[in-house]
Amino acid sequence: MIAAPEHGVRSQSRLTPMAEHGQPEPSIDRYAEVILESAPSTLRSSVYEALFVHGLDGVLITSADGRTLGANARACQLLGRTEHELIELGADGIVGRRDRRWREARETQAREGAFRGVFRLRRSDGSTFPAEVTTGTFPDGDCPRGYVSFRDVSTAEAEAARAEPGTRTAAEVVDDLESISDMYIGVDADWRMSYINAQAEARLGVCRDEVVGEDIWDRFPELLGTAFESTYRQVARTGRTATLEAHYDEADLWCEARVHALRRGGIAIHFRDVSDRRATQQERERLLTAERAARAAAERARRDLARIATHDELTGLLSRAGLLQEVDRVLAGRPEARLTVAFIDLDRFTLVNDSLGHGVGDRLLSEFGRRLTALAGPADPVARFGGDEFVVVLVDRSAEEVGRFAQQVIEASRQPVDVGARLLVTVSVGLATATGPADLGILLRGADAALHRAKDGGRERAVWFDEQMHVESVRRVELESDLRTALDRDELFLEYQPAFDLRVERICHVEALVRWRHPDRGLVGPVDFIPVAEETGLIHPIGELVLARAIEQAGRWAHLPEFRVWVNVSPQQLADHGFPARLAAQLDRAGLPAHRLGVEVTESALADGSRVGEVLERIHDLEVAIAIDDFGTGYSSLARLGEFPVDVIKVDKSFVHDLGTARGEALVAGIVTLARAIGAHVIAEGVETLAQLTALSALGVDSASGYLLARPSAPEHLPLTIPTEASYRWRLGVHPSVGRVPRRSSSPER
Ligand code: C2E
Ligand code: CA
Ligand code: CA
Repeated sequence: MIAAPEHGVRSQSRLTPMAEHGQPEPSIDRYAEVILESAPSTLRSSVYEALFVHGLDGVLITSADGRTLGANARACQLLGRTEHELIELGADGIVGRRDRRWREARETQAREGAFRGVFRLRRSDGSTFPAEVTTGTFPDGDCPRGYVSFRDVSTAEAEAARAEPGTRTAAEVVDDLESISDMYIGVDADWRMSYINAQAEARLGVCRDEVVGEDIWDRFPELLGTAFESTYRQVARTGRTATLEAHYDEADLWCEARVHALRRGGIAIHFRDVSDRRATQQERERLLTAERAARAAAERARRDLARIATHDELTGLLSRAGLLQEVDRVLAGRPEARLTVAFIDLDRFTLVNDSLGHGVGDRLLSEFGRRLTALAGPADPVARFGGDEFVVVLVDRSAEEVGRFAQQVIEASRQPVDVGARLLVTVSVGLATATGPADLGILLRGADAALHRAKDGGRERAVWFDEQMHVESVRRVELESDLRTALDRDELFLEYQPAFDLRVERICHVEALVRWRHPDRGLVGPVDFIPVAEETGLIHPIGELVLARAIEQAGRWAHLPEFRVWVNVSPQQLADHGFPARLAAQLDRAGLPAHRLGVEVTESALADGSRVGEVLERIHDLEVAIAIDDFGTGYSSLARLGEFPVDVIKVDKSFVHDLGTARGEALVAGIVTLARAIGAHVIAEGVETLAQLTALSALGVDSASGYLLARPSAPEHLPLTIPTEASYRWRLGVHPSVGRVPRRSSSPER
């Protein structure tokens, strides 16, 4: 820290030793004092002269009225001027003319006869140096003379300071104060400014010569009432150093002010312009705030994501992942807890969604979720697995309690839901409980199997997972893994079931049906593995394989006139937008005219809405025929049928089997009428009796298939006409119009 300059000029009396300035050499005063005491006046003047001419100090001789009468060589040397110049300049000219201290020093001299202090004296080149200045009077004959004696203290005192480390000379201090980038103001005990460095001059827009000696509060009245004032006063009062950082409005600066007391009274103020640092700090604070905000946002997003991952958005219930987590948490607290999984599914929910719209469906699900939560215990996690599947894990409940819970759920679902219209839904429940340590995955699979059993059993009921289901579910898991290798091992193949044109009793098309020759289980039918394939996504490669084989085979039947091969296409294949393009590519590769192929889609696939419609349109554009399979068993509204490009309606075998009854006949008649209305053909399948065949023919059905006519078989065993024993025309005494289909060689396609 920089010591304060010692410019306590006003309080210094004559001959006060300059304690702060190290060890001064014996000064002219001291010589004078000693000599004058004893010497006669002539000796005195010769002594003065000797000192004037040879002294180490610069001396100006002044008249009583203050004019400079002469200057010694040393003065000329120190100030870089000629004696003549110095006489012209006057004593006042060697220090700043407006330095009040100087003025006051002169006043002191006039009053007390002498004065001493440190001033910066100006050389002719404008540079300055610290000088210890002494003034006094001496008698010269009758007229008293004055003198101004000065000595450059910068070197001498710097040396003194070096000899005595820790001690700083006034000159050094002054130089330091001038060289530092801080602003500096020294204030004396009466609040007058005793020093102000060049920095402060520049920054505060004042001139040193003007302000030195001035009352700080007069000069800078804007300080009054500010933190600056209170701090300065406090330091002056307590003598304790203080620091403050505040905005100095007048100069629009952010200042850090370090204020300390001076030994002789008064204070020293170091200012530093910290505007840049403040700006940086403010910028840093702004960035910090922004960063904090960003971090909070990220944290919120993370929590949202975690919530999304663990919760179902629509109902706010747990998701599958959330349920797993929650159950883990329960088991961590109670490893022996007995867990029961209730798998709950809304019956025919797709029907609601499809006919009343997703908005209604969503409200129904939300409401059901609320009811379920109300019925479950506070410790029982409730989840929605997407779609209309809900899962409740019941913790430590007896079989009776679980049974009651399931019954309550079924009853709760029966309460109508008001969604604009009053909606009635029912649920089926599958239940599975752990006897040993619980594995949620196994329990879920068990409850799911039980749920399917409940649905198959007529819905709106609860079914417990049992041993047989366990065997089945194990079988299913095995099947799944076997199916993955079935494709590689080429275990899948197609059989073809013919359908016959009822007018001419001649084969008009075949339906390709996939089979699996399982290495251990023998022949596995599609009913047993297609659902597994659909669940695992294996349906895509399987579907591609079936299409490729069927197209290839259709090419071999090119010689049969107006002959078409139908292929079953699963809803998942239809949901794939790339499907039509791949279909086109396959046809192209095989060189098969598109009208030789047809795809059968189930009614339920149509319930999926617009996307399927788009895919069907593109298939239609290829001129591949489209049939609605199992018509009448799905839930698609008849009204929507017209929206799709349908060429053929296939009457489900269940209706064919009902043909003996009035209801059955009315149904088939209705389907035929509907088909005519949309310009579609009607194919009946599952014909097992001649009576059914006759009835279908009478109802105007275009073609038929069934075990009566032919079982699915390898292509080479394909019968081309209705076998005689099954021919209703033959029975009726009408000979089939065509007995044989011409061989490929003899009859090119029409
Ligand atoms: P679907 O499309 O309704 O096929 C007709 C099913 O009825 C065939 O069973 C057929 O063998 C059987 N069937 C034919 N005539 C009679 C009859 O007179 N009486 C009785 N009771 N049944 C008859 P399959 O081959 O077991 O196929 C079952 C289902 O598997 C098919 O029903 C179809 O939905 C599906 N499927 C078959 N092949 C494929 C395929 O390549 N891809 C896809 N996605 N599904 C296929
Ligand atoms: Ca079919
Ligand atoms: Ca069918």
